[in-house]
Amino acid sequence: MASEAEQETKLCGNCKRDIPLSNFTIHEIHCKRNLSVCDVCKEPVPTADMEEHLATEHMPVTCKCKMTMEKAFLEEHKVIMNTYITRSVLTLGIRDLY
Ligand SMILES: [Zn+2]
Ligand SMILES: [Zn+2]
Ligand SMILES: [Zn+2]
Repeated sequence: MASEAEQETKLCGNCKRDIPLSNFTIHEIHCKRNLSVCDVCKEPVPTADMEEHLATEHMPVTCKCKMTMEKAFLEEHKVIMNTYITRSVLTLGIRDLY
């Protein structure tokens, strides 16, 4: 009995996924047409959603502290800020910063 579990695959350079060899040519054509790799985060994103992706993931946002950064960095920045503020509260007794 032959097993069909071992299917040959090839890595698609566009979406970075392993694609069954039998589908690869078709996949690549569709993939290049429908998927683009985001220049900023190097993640494959549907071309149709790229504008939205850039707007939601990479749009510069302004933090309360007036610093402008990518949204992806804001959460990390807030953690750093909170750590910093907590430390300031402890050392300087400032309570109304946040
Ligand atoms: Zn692909
Ligand atoms: Zn991106
Ligand atoms: Zn900030």
